[in-house]
Amino acid sequence: MAVPKKKVSPSRRNMRRSHHALEGQAFVECANCGELMRPHHVCQACGYYRKREVVAKAANG
Ligand SMILES: [Zn+2]
Repeated sequence: MAVPKKKVSPSRRNMRRSHHALEGQAFVECANCGELMRPHHVCQACGYYRKREVVAKAANG
């Protein structure tokens, strides 16, 4: 089995992990209702995508 030749120091380990932080989710304003929505997704508030209704009043009955 391949085994590391040297123990990785705390400094090197932490430098490697400096890229592991989570990024915030992307949000844009809906063109129809102005609600924050995820880009390239149907708006959860009004059911619009690319300026036309694709889901009839999403989850509002
Ligand atoms: Zn909307």
